[in-house]
Order: sequence, then structure tokens, then C-alpha cells
Amino acid sequence: MSDVVLLPSVNKFLGRDHGHYIDGGFSAGSPTGKITVVNPADGEAIAQVSEATLGDIDHAVASANAGFKVWSKTSPAARAAVLFKLADLLERNREELAQLETCQSGKIIQISRAFEVDQAAHFLRYYAGWATKITGETITPSLPSFAGERYTAFTLREPVGVVVGIVPWNFSTMIAIWKLASALTTGCSIIIKPSEFTPLTILRIAELATEAGLPPGALNVVTGSGAAGKALIEHAGTNKVSFTGSVPTGIAVGKSAMEAKLTRSTLELGGKNSVGFLRDVDLDKAADGIIEAGFLHSGQICAAAERFFAHRSQIEPIMEKLAQRLATLKIGSPMDESTQFGPVTNKQHQQKLAGFFETARAENSTIVYGGKVIDRPGCYVEPTIILANSASDTLLNEETFGPIATFLPYDTEEELLHLMNDTPYGLSASIWTNDLSKALRLIPEIKAGTVWVNMHTLLDPAVPFGGVKASGIGREFGAAFLEDYTELKSVMIRY
Ligand code: NDP
Repeated sequence: MSDVVLLPSVNKFLGRDHGHYIDGGFSAGSPTGKITVVNPADGEAIAQVSEATLGDIDHAVASANAGFKVWSKTSPAARAAVLFKLADLLERNREELAQLETCQSGKIIQISRAFEVDQAAHFLRYYAGWATKITGETITPSLPSFAGERYTAFTLREPVGVVVGIVPWNFSTMIAIWKLASALTTGCSIIIKPSEFTPLTILRIAELATEAGLPPGALNVVTGSGAAGKALIEHAGTNKVSFTGSVPTGIAVGKSAMEAKLTRSTLELGGKNSVGFLRDVDLDKAADGIIEAGFLHSGQICAAAERFFAHRSQIEPIMEKLAQRLATLKIGSPMDESTQFGPVTNKQHQQKLAGFFETARAENSTIVYGGKVIDRPGCYVEPTIILANSASDTLLNEETFGPIATFLPYDTEEELLHLMNDTPYGLSASIWTNDLSKALRLIPEIKAGTVWVNMHTLLDPAVPFGGVKASGIGREFGAAFLEDYTELKSVMIRY
């Protein structure tokens, strides 16, 4: 097959002089500080966005504060209606958004359509439903009454104010939607700072949000590097940061937030997620499961698995079946609908993965399959299987964020549990077995924010998501997100 033809609207959008999206419209693009956006499929520059100045940051924060005044007073049902409309607009502009996303991130077009647009719309509708269901509680205090006075109390859940949403490059649309939907449904306003590698789709979505009826300033998008994110967090006019990204940046963000003004922060950070195959596992299902767990979007998913533990008697056949499947993957242009495996999102990441291949060789780990950069334009690496020598091999411990499955055999279930938990991270894990009773006994022993059984990586808006240990603080989705986007106010009344 050949590449899908870019829609005229995509070409037109790419050719614009992109400023920041502030106050319900685009500011003029900066004549100097420009960031070039590169298509990782061929290394070609496709657009330029502006690097935010401190003036731009002040402008966006002032706009978000004005937007907050209006939006926080908008009725819950009216807020929900705007978010439902935005979800409809995402779907109506599905192909344009999916193509833009694939151009900037190299995500294969089928994943851009299914996850960055369809799933994002699904999450948006879920959050929209919360707007009308945010409640406090009534409490009867036990204070003593000396002259017949009585007391009652209740709590209010109030929006925290202006949220700074900092988004990584791997799912730049869906993760931005998680953040803006959480903020807007609770009555907060939000400033999104996308990754400098993938700033385009969210700029287009901001326009659609205005079309959906969002008042000016309720959603602003400021483009720029990490410095722009830091300036937003430390700005006196912002109240919360919702960050998704790597552990080192997350620690820096958490520190900035605390030191600047005790800004609330939720940190969704990286992982080194484990998969444990119990002895009864069906080997074909295990191999299929590893494709889902480790190779979707070239492994560039925070919840993706990178550490695979199989019983010593089964590890060779599982790796062999996986290698057979990887050999059939069609590697190619992400704009070709038949492609199953595309490039990674940027050159730096490709080089980082090349470094991991070198490390594996230097440590004499066995490269069972792949293990090389692919010699073609763009940022391609081979899907890779590695057999580690021991639990201390680098590839079993450092997050690669790439299509690299590293294996180690185990002999007993106690050893399996120890290996699965032997990591500073705790975002997700999965166990694969037909023995439900055994699975239910193991689940409490696994130190991770999410434990899947016979599945991995798939997220649902009703199921809370977030990390333990170094994988973060706070939860998105479910009812849990309310804690982080609202302040609980207590009211006591004497009568
Ligand atoms: P980074 O941590 O490098 O960057 C994340 C975002 O933070 C980007 O927008 C970046 O801007 C910005 N940033 C960088 N420095 C600062 C700073 N000092 N203050 C404020 N913002 C800053 O992550 P990546 O973009 O490389 O994404 C990959 C990482 O994200 C992986 O570790 C992955 O595990 C994690 N991740 C976690 C998820 C989760 O839910 N737990 C989900 C998805 C990814 P810029 O890019 O412009 O430098």
C-alpha cells in the first residue's frame, strides 16, 4: 500500500505561522525564537512553532485567570455540554487530527485514529459526565451546646484554579485531553505546555475547543521547551501542575512547584513495568500478549512492559514465538495504513535506544532478535528481544521507552515476585495465567499502581491510573482525579 494523501486542511495548518493559543485565539508567532517540528518518519521539517517568552507566559497566565473567573461560575451542565461538543468535534475532524499527529510523532496512522482521536473523545465524554456529579457532604458536628445553640457543617468541592498541564511527546493528544478534561470538568482553567517535539495537534484542538463554546482563557496552549513549563509552574498566577513525563523531570517539576509556592502537583512518571508468565500460560497467548504489552507504538507508552519473566522451562519457546511474530511485522511509513511498526518519535530518542543496544552488547546480554538502528531516513529502530544475564543487567533496570523486551528466567514463584518488584518504579505490571485463584493471591504482592491479568497497557477512563514508588504521585481517571483538581472547603454553621 502507499501513504494516505494528506488532507488540504493538514497542509494548510502545517504552513501556518504558529503562535500560542491564548484568550481564545492565536497570538502572533514570535519572529525570533522558533522551534522546528520534524517528521520522524523522514527527518523533514514540517512546521515551526514559537518558543514562549516570559511575556507570553504572563499573557497566558492572565488569560487563564480571567478564563477561570468565567468558567468556574459556569453551571456544571453547561460545562459538560461544551466538553461533549468538543468530543463531537474531535470525531468530526478525526482524519485531520490523526494525520497531524502522525506527521509530528511518527505514530502509525491507525493508532493515531484509534487512540489519539477515538479514545481521546471517549475519555473526554467520561470526564464531561463528572461535571454534574461533583458533590460535598453534610456532617453533624459534636460540639457541646451550652445555651441550646446547634451546629451543622458541610463540605464544598471547589476548583483549584489555574492548572498547568505539562505533556510528553508519546501521546501528545490523548494525554493533553486527560489533563484539560480533568481541569475543565471541575471548573478549573488550564494552560497546556506540550512537548517541543509534538506541539501541533493540541494547538488545533484548542481552536476546536473555542468552536465548542469554551470561553476565552479557559484553555490556553503555550509552546516552548522545558523552560516554559518551569516558568508556568513557578508563576504566581498558577495553582496546580499536572505533569506527565520522565522521573528526573518529574522530580525537578515537583521541587519547582514546592519551592515556588507550595503549588499542588500530580506527577505521572515513567515505569519499568514487569510481566510475569506463570507456568500454566499458553505460549502463543504469551507471545501475542508481549506484542500488546511491549511493542504497541514502538514501546513508547509509560505503562508498556519492558521486563519479562518466564519460567526457565518456557523462556526459550516464548522468545522464539515472539521472534517469529516480530519478523512478520511490516515496518514502514506511519502514513501507510498497512504499516504495523513505525519510527520512534525523535532523533534523540533513536540515539538513546542505540545506546541501550550498545550497553546490552557491552554487558554480554544475548540479543535474541533485532538490536540495531534501521538504516533508512527517519528515526527507526528494530523491535528487539534481549535475554539478560542477571537481574542487574542495565536493560532490566533502566527505562528504555522503546521496542525492547528484556527477558530473564525464574525458577520459583517467590523468585518471580521478587524479580517483578525489584525496581524503583511501580507504574504497572501484569501476570498471565489461567489460574484465577493464584492471580488473586499474587495481585496484593505486586507493587504497582495498576496490575493487569492476561492483558497489559490498555487504559479505561473509569479505572484510576497512576504510579507507586518512583512512578509518581496522584491518580488520573475514575473518581480519584477529583482529589487533585478540587479543594475541599469545610463550612460550619452555628444556629
Ligand atoms: P520529559 O520528562 O523529558 O518531558 C515531559 C514534558 O516536560 C515535556 O513537555 C518537556 O518539555 C517538559 N519539561 C522538561 N523540563 C521541564 C522542567 N524543568 N519543568 C517543566 N517542564 C519541563 O519526558 P518525555 O517527553 O521525554 O516523555 C517520556 C517520558 O514520559 C517517559 O519517561 C515516560 O515513561 C513518561 N510518561 C509517563 C506517563 C505516565 O502516565 N506515567 C505517560 C507517558 C509518558 P520539552 O519536551 O519541550 O523539553
